[in-house]
Amino acid sequence: MKFSELLEICKNTELELSEIILAQEMIETGRDPEKVKEYLKRLLEVMIEEAEKNFGKRFETLTELTGDNAYKLANVRPKMMSEFNYVATIVALSMGESNASMGRIVACPTAGSCGVVPGAAYALWKVEKADFNDLLKAFIVASGIGNVVAKRATLSGAAGGCQAEIGTATAMASGLLTYYYSKDPVKVGYAAALALKALMGLVCDPVGGFVEVPCVKRNGNAVNVAIASSEMALAGIESVIPFDEVVEAMYQVGKALPESLRETGIGGIAGTKSAQEIVEKIRNKWNS
Ligand code: SF4
Repeated sequence: MKFSELLEICKNTELELSEIILAQEMIETGRDPEKVKEYLKRLLEVMIEEAEKNFGKRFETLTELTGDNAYKLANVRPKMMSEFNYVATIVALSMGESNASMGRIVACPTAGSCGVVPGAAYALWKVEKADFNDLLKAFIVASGIGNVVAKRATLSGAAGGCQAEIGTATAMASGLLTYYYSKDPVKVGYAAALALKALMGLVCDPVGGFVEVPCVKRNGNAVNVAIASSEMALAGIESVIPFDEVVEAMYQVGKALPESLRETGIGGIAGTKSAQEIVEKIRNKWNS
């Protein structure tokens, strides 16, 4: 289903966007909306539990190229970020590093992009002291945004580049924040569109094929794109291009990307001289 169709239903009913998304899931899959809600509630609980447990922790990752980024950020006083951005960024980095060390994460929408939505959700939980049920409704909306991208384009870095993974996660997080603060489905669409446009064209270029560099820090940056996009939408800034068309454009861009920029570990950051040297060192270490 298109996002515009969800908006149309919102206009013609008294239902909230989160309820419409659950009803739509029932129409498409036959799944009981209460069961879907229960499942999403559990995912949100896991996100919060893991964010709490891993906040600013050091991790031992496979390649050791990441693992102490959340720790470093958590051990300074931010100079420019608000508390909200700071907490969201630490969680986004923590989740990415937890994923790289085989920890428990919620793929949202994928493992590589698992930090962005929890970063936004946890900042609401911790800094804004969000009510869990309000947070759950916003998370359902985020899942609806992810579903639109999954059905109408792709969520896979190998198929559409990082714009499909972290770009989608950022659109979801931006929609989540906007719904939490406004309950306005039109603004949610703008926020998601602004976020996805900001990351349009982002290539998938993991060094050595490991989901660590640039993935972990990209999660940390992307959650701030989500926050900025939401802040703009909440202020009444509109996306000139509607979300559905942005999703379609992202899909076309993804299909146009050469294979070297779609999770092959060949192009982009992965293709740099430094990346090649790092991969060589890792190989030598593992073979010795
Ligand atoms: S660079 Fe590729 S592997 Fe890393 S998060 Fe983005 S899409 Fe996933």
